[in-house]
Amino acid sequence: MESNQLKSLVPASGSLLLGVMGDPIAHSKSPAMHQAALGAMGVPGHYVPLHVKPDNLKDAIQAIRALGFRGVNVTIPHKVEVMTYLDAVDEGAKRIGAVNTVVNDNGLLTGYNTDGIGYVRSLKEEILPELAGKHIVVLGAGGAARGIIHALIQEGPGSVSVVNRTASKAKELAEEWGNLAQIRGFGESEAETAIRSADVLINTTSVGMHPNVNQVPVPEAWIPEGIVVSDLIYNPLTTKLLSISAAKGCSVHGGLGMFINQGAYALEYWTGQPAPVEDMKAAVLESFRRETRA
Ligand code: NAP
Repeated sequence: MESNQLKSLVPASGSLLLGVMGDPIAHSKSPAMHQAALGAMGVPGHYVPLHVKPDNLKDAIQAIRALGFRGVNVTIPHKVEVMTYLDAVDEGAKRIGAVNTVVNDNGLLTGYNTDGIGYVRSLKEEILPELAGKHIVVLGAGGAARGIIHALIQEGPGSVSVVNRTASKAKELAEEWGNLAQIRGFGESEAETAIRSADVLINTTSVGMHPNVNQVPVPEAWIPEGIVVSDLIYNPLTTKLLSISAAKGCSVHGGLGMFINQGAYALEYWTGQPAPVEDMKAAVLESFRRETRA
């Protein structure tokens, strides 16, 4: 998009309005990240945290139009419910069953999901450029897992095994997308063989997330030496799963890149411009540092 087209997105108030709706929202790093991005792009604008309780979501979405927001991110617990209040939902987001980005085109609200594509962009750029033919094991079958598995399938993996504490969720997901890829679901008790033959192991569960930083989602002995191990968690930046895997000679990949890239894709939808990912990353890291000092 040319800069004069970008100018046309800025309302008469002179400020591009963006934000993130969630409950809770105070902890979110999105405002720091996007505000830094707008600054680096030279776009006059504000990206604000919006504390929206579930009962108020419908009104809050209506308000995007009334207040002239160009768009919002939507986070826990609104990613599924929000789809009911939009004018259109992108095909990928429909299949995933969740929206994390809303774009307002002159009152027409469209929902997208940038979590999965953000994750895969980060995995390919940081550690594994080619996913075709790989045996990928995904731990967890929640919202984040659906987004990333959907995006991984587009890369033509050899197979995807989904392992989940609640086995039925993994099996249902495998059945739902069985026509798109070689995909199977397992409970934890039947997971060892799949994990031992993985080329890429991805944790999408919350096991190991702050404050439970000593937990690991899978027994250390099952992790094959030298594979790629990835964790969606970014607090802490290096989880225990990643540190024990690195000690086994694995290439490791944390969740920060996914967070930055889901935001980058959202910003690209809103502005039509390439997102300044390095500035965004620096802002998030600085926000973590400030938190640690406080
Ligand atoms: P979710 O929908 O609640 O799903 C949680 C998943 O974790 C489910 O599969 C659940 O299994 C499993 N799980 C939870 N506690 C467990 C335990 N003690 N033992 C075994 N499995 C357990 O959550 P989500 O939205 O998918 O988020 C999952 C993780 O991804 C979180 O850590 C979140 O921070 C991270 N994430 C990161 C980014 C990023 O930008 N880097 C973006 C989104 C999410 P059951 O089905 O059996 O309950």
